[in-house]
Amino acid sequence: MSPSSTGALAGKFNSEQIGWLEKARVFARGITQAEVIASDKENVFRRDLFEKACSPEFGLGSLPFPTTYGGSGGDYVSFSLVNEEFGRRCVPIMSSLGVHVLSQEPIYRFGNDEQKNKYLMAATSGKMLAAFGLTEPNAGSDTAAIETSAKIDAAGNYVLNGTKTFITSGASADFYIVMARLLDSTDGAKPESGRKSGQITAFIVERNFAGFAIGQKFDMLGMRGYSTCEIVFNDCLVPKENLLGAHGEGRKVALSSLAKGRVTIAAQCVGWAQGALDACLESLQRNYRDGIISADAGGMAAKLGDLAVQTEAARVLTFQAARLIDAKEPSVTVAAMAKTMASDVAMKVSTEAMNVLGMDGLNPELLIERIFRDAKAGQIYEGTNQIQRMLIARDLLK
Ligand SMILES: Cc1cc2nc3c(=O)[nH]c(=O)nc-3n(C[C@H](O)[C@H](O)[C@H](O)COP(=O)(O)OP(=O)(O)OC[C@H]3O[C@@H](n4cnc5c(N)ncnc54)[C@H](O)[C@@H]3O)c2cc1C
Repeated sequence: MSPSSTGALAGKFNSEQIGWLEKARVFARGITQAEVIASDKENVFRRDLFEKACSPEFGLGSLPFPTTYGGSGGDYVSFSLVNEEFGRRCVPIMSSLGVHVLSQEPIYRFGNDEQKNKYLMAATSGKMLAAFGLTEPNAGSDTAAIETSAKIDAAGNYVLNGTKTFITSGASADFYIVMARLLDSTDGAKPESGRKSGQITAFIVERNFAGFAIGQKFDMLGMRGYSTCEIVFNDCLVPKENLLGAHGEGRKVALSSLAKGRVTIAAQCVGWAQGALDACLESLQRNYRDGIISADAGGMAAKLGDLAVQTEAARVLTFQAARLIDAKEPSVTVAAMAKTMASDVAMKVSTEAMNVLGMDGLNPELLIERIFRDAKAGQIYEGTNQIQRMLIARDLLK
C-alpha cells in the first residue's frame, strides 16, 4: 500500500483520513527541495513553516485533539498519515510538530481548565511552540534517575535547578513540559543520590520564566533543523499554577504521552522507509530505461521486493497501533513494537538503498543519505529500541 495515490487508499482509510493526508501533501509540496536540503545543512528551525502548519488552512498543530481547546478533532490514524507523508518528504518541521503534539497530551490529560485555556489554545494556533523535557545528561533510558530538582519556596511557588539535554525544539519553544524531582525540604539542598529522594513531578515551564536558559546547542549527524539543545534551570521560578498533575505524578505524566508519541515516531519512520524506497526505485527505473543495468542485475529485484515487504509490514503495524489509540484501547506494547520495527526498517531500507545506488545514494537531492542519518535517531529517541524490546518481553512474561 504505497500511499502514492489516494485512490489506492480507499477502503483502508476513510475520506476524512484521506483528507488529512491530502493536506499534508499540499503542505509538503509547498516546500522546495532546496529548502528541505537547507534546513538540514544549515541546521535552522523553520518557525514560519511551523506556524503555517498550525494555521487554520492546515490545522496540523493539534490535529488529534478535540475541538474544545482549538484542536482539529482528527484521529490518530490521520495524524499518522500526516507524519508518514512528512517523513517521506523530509518536511523540515516534522519532528518539532510531533513533539508539539506530544507535549499537549499531558495538558489534556493532567492539566486543569486554566492550564488548558492558557497553553492549549496558544499551542493549537501556533502562537506557542511546545517541547518536552525529560532526558538529562545522567538520565536517558532510566527516567527514574532524573536529578533536576524542584523545591517549594515560601510563597508556595517552585524553584527548579538542573539541566535537560537533547531537547527537540529546545532553543525555539515557548513552553516545556518538564519533569523534576520535588524535594521535601525547602532548604534548597540537591538530592544526594538523584534517584533516592523526592517525588518526580511535572511542570509547565515558560522560556521567559526567570532562571530559565538555553544551554549547549547540538550540531548532530541527523535530525538537524530542530534547534535541539540543552535547557538549563538556574533557580528557575515556576508559579504554583504551573504544577502539572499532582506531586509525584511526573513519570505517569511523561510515560502516558510517550505511548502515543512512539506511534508518531513509527509513522515518521515508515515515511522515511518509503521515501528511501521511492528514491531508490526512481533511480533504478531510470537506469533500466537507459540500459545502464538490467532489471534483475545483482539480485536487485529481489532486494527491492524485500525492502518493499518490510516497509509495508512496518506500516501495517504502525497503523494498527494508531487504530488502537482511536478505539480508546491504546497499547504501550503495540506502540513499542511499531516504533521498534519501523525505525529498524527505516534504517535498513535507507542503508540498502545506498548499497543499491552506490554513489547516487549519497546525493542529497535524493534524500536517501538524509533519511539514513535521521533514521538512526528513530532507533534511539522516545526510548531506545533495545529498551522497547525489553518492554515487549516484560509484557509477554508477566
Ligand atoms: C534527535 C534526538 C531528539 C531527542 N529529543 C528529546 C526530547 O525532545 N525530549 C527528551 O526528553 N529527550 C529527547 N531525546 C533523548 C532521548 O529520548 C534519549 O536519547 C533516549 O531516551 C536514550 O537515552 P540515552 O541517549 O541517554 O541512552 P542511554 O540510556 O545511556 O542508553 C545507552 C545504551 O544503553 C542501553 N541501555 C540503557 N539502559 C539499559 C538497560 N537497563 N538494559 C539494557 N540496555 C540498556 C540503551 O538501549 C542504549 O543502547 C532526544 C534524542 C535524540 C537523539
